[in-house]
Amino acid sequence: VGDVSSLLIDQLGELVTNDPDRAGGTAPDADPRLGRVSNAAVVVQDGRVVWVGSASDAPPADERFDADGAAAIPGFVDSHAHLVFAGDRSAEFAARMAGRPYTAGGVGVTVAATRAASDEQLRSQVSGLVEEMVRQGTTTVEIKSGYGLTVDDESRSLRVAQQFTAETTYLGAHVVPPEYADDPAGYVDLVTGPMLAACAPYARWIDVFCEGGAFDADQARAVLRAGMAQGLHPRIHANQLGPGPGVQVACEVGATAADHCTHLTDADVSALAAGGVVATLLPGVEFSTRSPYPDARRLMHAGVTVALATDCNPGTSFTTSMPFVIALAVREMGMSPAEAVWSATAGGAAALQRDDVGVLRAGARADLAVLDAPSHVHLAYRPGVPLATAFG
Ligand SMILES: [Zn+2]
Repeated sequence: VGDVSSLLIDQLGELVTNDPDRAGGTAPDADPRLGRVSNAAVVVQDGRVVWVGSASDAPPADERFDADGAAAIPGFVDSHAHLVFAGDRSAEFAARMAGRPYTAGGVGVTVAATRAASDEQLRSQVSGLVEEMVRQGTTTVEIKSGYGLTVDDESRSLRVAQQFTAETTYLGAHVVPPEYADDPAGYVDLVTGPMLAACAPYARWIDVFCEGGAFDADQARAVLRAGMAQGLHPRIHANQLGPGPGVQVACEVGATAADHCTHLTDADVSALAAGGVVATLLPGVEFSTRSPYPDARRLMHAGVTVALATDCNPGTSFTTSMPFVIALAVREMGMSPAEAVWSATAGGAAALQRDDVGVLRAGARADLAVLDAPSHVHLAYRPGVPLATAFG
């Protein structure tokens, strides 16, 4: 593009780079993976980072922004979100908080509303949610289909999603829709046949909800393998509501990520570690369904890469806030603030196989979140306070 002016982001009290080449953190509680720089500066140009280091060494730039001691981190990478939907399920939430347990059946309510919505209503819905995310520091988001469940409604969901992100996921295998209640095998044939053909041009990823009440191991395998044959990359919803085969299926097909991972056996944990499959934890779900949280420490101890994401969806986690997810991960899942920030940025990037986001080093995308706070710790230390904003 050329001839684009450079910008110096100066006087950052703390910069989290997630750059593995940068020896980070002298404080005893600091995670070296954060690659922290004190009194830092960043130069960006044409959408890319061109320089990172100490403010005192910063090269000249065309423009300068004075961060006045604020901290900055790589923008959040929300690697799991269901934003293409219509309708409202606040009554279901209220009922659940009054004591009724969640089952996968509630998805059907959103499916009916999504099918009835216009393209413009869906686009407007996604736009509003993405704007919420940006206001809270998210710079990369994955968006799934999965509330259309017809050839036309799934493909239009992905066409809408594609207007907002390159990380689009075909989730025709979210639940079996009511019209196929007596013929789930027929629905799997549709998902792996005509629906896949219509959706693959608009999707990067293939996903399946492998859970009791949704799809079993054989069906999940069939869905993922069909998508992979069309060039899509596999990921999975696994082991959310109880123990099950989802994680093993993920490892078997070489999925990039297994998401939820709330109920794991020792064999599941070992398989994730051995397979290099990212475990994406979605504690907004456990919060919103008042359920036991996944064991992040157990996964990290086994050497599994852990990502954190919102799972933003109207049924079980209607939040767009990665800082809220970080606060939950720290308070409820035993993660340190540094671990949670890493998992919400670099972890999400790993879950999307991206090396240009979730990290701040020369060549990476100029995706930063600036914090109205002196350090990344404040994201968990000050829960519910809007501290993070996507820069730019
Ligand atoms: Zn999900």
